[in-house]
Amino acid sequence: MVQFKDYFLGNSVSSNKRVADTQKCLRVSGKHNDLEDVGLDTYHHTMFEMLGNWSFGDYFKKEAIAWAWELLTEVYGLPKDRLYVTVFGGDKKDNLPVDEEAKELWKQFVSEDRILHGSKKDNFWEMGEQGPCGPCSEIHIDLRTDAEVKKKLGKELVNSDHPQVVEIWNLVFIQFNRLASGALEPLPDKHVDTGMGFERLCMAIQGKTSNYDTDVFSPLMQFIAIHANVQYGENAKTDVAIRVMADHIRAVSFAIADGQLPSNTGAGYVIRRILRRAVRYGFSYLNFKEPFIHRLVFLLANQLRDVFPELNQQQDYVTRVVHEEEISFLRTLDRGLKRIENFDKTITGPEAFELYDTFGFPFDLTSLIARERGFSVDEKGFQEEMAKQKARSKVDATKETGDWILVGADRKPEFVGYEQTEADSKIVKYRKIKQKNKELFQLVFDKTPFYAESGGQVGDTGFIENANEKIFITDTKKESELIVHYADKLPESLSGVFQAVVDKNTRTRTTSNHSATHLLHAALRQVLGKHVEQKGSLVNDKILRFDFSHFAAMTPEEISKVETIVNQKIRENIHLDEKEMYLLSKPRV
Ligand code: ATP
Ligand code: MG
Repeated sequence: MVQFKDYFLGNSVSSNKRVADTQKCLRVSGKHNDLEDVGLDTYHHTMFEMLGNWSFGDYFKKEAIAWAWELLTEVYGLPKDRLYVTVFGGDKKDNLPVDEEAKELWKQFVSEDRILHGSKKDNFWEMGEQGPCGPCSEIHIDLRTDAEVKKKLGKELVNSDHPQVVEIWNLVFIQFNRLASGALEPLPDKHVDTGMGFERLCMAIQGKTSNYDTDVFSPLMQFIAIHANVQYGENAKTDVAIRVMADHIRAVSFAIADGQLPSNTGAGYVIRRILRRAVRYGFSYLNFKEPFIHRLVFLLANQLRDVFPELNQQQDYVTRVVHEEEISFLRTLDRGLKRIENFDKTITGPEAFELYDTFGFPFDLTSLIARERGFSVDEKGFQEEMAKQKARSKVDATKETGDWILVGADRKPEFVGYEQTEADSKIVKYRKIKQKNKELFQLVFDKTPFYAESGGQVGDTGFIENANEKIFITDTKKESELIVHYADKLPESLSGVFQAVVDKNTRTRTTSNHSATHLLHAALRQVLGKHVEQKGSLVNDKILRFDFSHFAAMTPEEISKVETIVNQKIRENIHLDEKEMYLLSKPRV
């Protein structure tokens, strides 16, 4: 819903006041992280479909509540006597009372003893520290047998982690804006954002007691069980493993189809971790010693081809990516597990770090293995090792920075370096910095032909001079809007005009290498596929480096194809024009 923030705040108006949708929802890191429960329980997934309806300043609580009830009980036919609802029970700190409005509306449909008051944690929805927020109202269903219901009332089990008394739908009423001060400000218009878990809804409609028993999961579950040669439902450990695999392949496949490849950092690492968790469960409990999970992509793509066709369209590609990941992880897994054999009852911080650093074991994987063997892991020690590693890579980056000293009137520097490599410049301000124990100066000019490091291209070098002296510029970088020039010393006299001269030869060679990265990018996409995207690059006058992800090492044939394409393009000597243009979305005003 983050993308709709501006509608909620009244900063912009949606052309559609009412929307209904399904979203692929991943809860595997950050504020919402269900990963550790997935597979162990039967109603949390790494990826689930969240069905929702939205009102952008249109209908509010009255309609949202009436329609939710109608859909669940009349259209889907869920039993009324198995449903419970919650409303926001108020909060002293926020000076908010019980959501009586929602409560009154619910009373038309459910008896009062089925309307429960919820805490701020469960019944007040916030996007983050700041922003649109408001009370919410959840709908829970009790799927236990009649005998069990007789023994204990369902309402005592709402919001208490019972696998068969689960929340299926949450209606969020967005009516406040949380300010930086923590205070709540009423919004100009009121909005609705609801979220219903499709898999849980299926469980309720199909009369099951586990999401994995519905037809959303059964094709995957059966395929896994058959190939593992086990029966689902006979052994708790193999059951968990089957659920983990059936669940995880969904998150992984769709993430890859949406353009997120497994990698070692950021979102890519989240995907890698999920996949490795699945491989590990399959390896340990279902005896999948060879890559297997990639074979599930086909089933999933077929099953969801009408709802999310993106997977079906990229089925071969996704299968290959998963396959390659499996091969490489199974290899290290085997070695890592052997390494663990040598450890004592406690896996120390440095040992856990070695598993992470050398064997690619995410910490949660190490603790999982440890838990099974009755080992303990020193998490604190592991975090300390991680912090040490971060500190090591930081040492080089530490610098001391002095305050800016103004020479002329402060103004935003003008960059003229696309058209010219020389300019008449005045020093606007300077400061002293200390980097790796060396003293340097940073200069800002009113006008500069020096290109600041960006897009992987290194900054320009050159010099500035006047009749009396010449100062070398060793590097140029950007600091938000500022173009900062590095020099080993300051001119004797800071005022007056300097001739600023870029080392043209170096710039030309660097520019050519920068163009070559774009040629290389295009050639890679042609030879390897459209998924090749720039992940980083380095361009200077001598070399270029272009980082990208691909699911396999390039073959010599592929490399030679790419080289041929790039060389051909260079030989075409295509004419280049340079023009400064405005972004379409930001017209000149
Ligand atoms: P729970 O307390 O069961 O974890 P929640 O409070 O985190 O649920 P919401 O954030 O209100 O759930 O999300 C809206 C709906 O999305 C829930 O009512 C539920 O049906 C579904 N849902 C939430 N998390 C998951 C998950 N990990 N897997 C499957 N469905 C989920
Ligand atoms: Mg949750």
